[in-house]
Amino acid sequence: MRKLAAGNWKMNGNAAALSEVTALLSAHPDPTCEMLLCPPATLIAQMNWAARNSALRIGGQDCHAKAAGAHTGDISAAMLKDAGATYVILGHSERRADHGESDEEVRTKAEAALDAGLIAIVCVGETELQRDAGQTLAVVGAQLKASVPDAVTAENVVIAYEPVWAIGTGRTPTLDEIAEVHAFLRAELAARIGDQATGVRLLYGGSVKPSNAAEIFALANVDGALVGGASLKAADFGAIVAALSA
Ligand code: PEP
Repeated sequence: MRKLAAGNWKMNGNAAALSEVTALLSAHPDPTCEMLLCPPATLIAQMNWAARNSALRIGGQDCHAKAAGAHTGDISAAMLKDAGATYVILGHSERRADHGESDEEVRTKAEAALDAGLIAIVCVGETELQRDAGQTLAVVGAQLKASVPDAVTAENVVIAYEPVWAIGTGRTPTLDEIAEVHAFLRAELAARIGDQATGVRLLYGGSVKPSNAAEIFALANVDGALVGGASLKAADFGAIVAALSA
């Protein structure tokens, strides 16, 4: 399985920020791991052009469940693909919180992504209250079950475990806690799709940075990272790519 370093720029970056892509590619032209950046939709086509003939893949941060229609302000999976995306992040906790996205909506969006030929990165993760209440596995298990399409394979879906309380906070779970959730996700997938589950990439996300990447990547069942803040700067994201390629 090829590991995946995925960066989520969220609502950050303009055309000038594409210099980070140039810097990243000149420092890491051919990493062992797969390298993905998901910029705001306004930059997808330009970033795709900046990354032409390179190892960098481009992704969206959300898509609509329908292929086209009267949905002002929304973007379909086919449009992302047309702009150069090969991946799309779905069900990020910021979208679940800001836009009230349910597991059911995330699943229909993921189905649309698969129909359009995109790889869906489906995010799951517990809040701090849920962790403190001992509900982490129940919460991520329910999200996994309801958000991931039945057509899931090792090729078309990536799962990102992102504890909500670790996103953008500088706090991370312990290594044992990350390993426990990833082992659980692998077992849940195996119960659903059998041997295929061993090939589904399970990313950890939540305050991954150059200083903690190597120890997280050394854990069993961690097949890469979904990185927010540290993906905005080529030096930081490049260091994470290097740790995953080691
Ligand atoms: C994210 O946006 O998915 C994320 C994990 O953010 P950060 O790395 O900044 O915590």
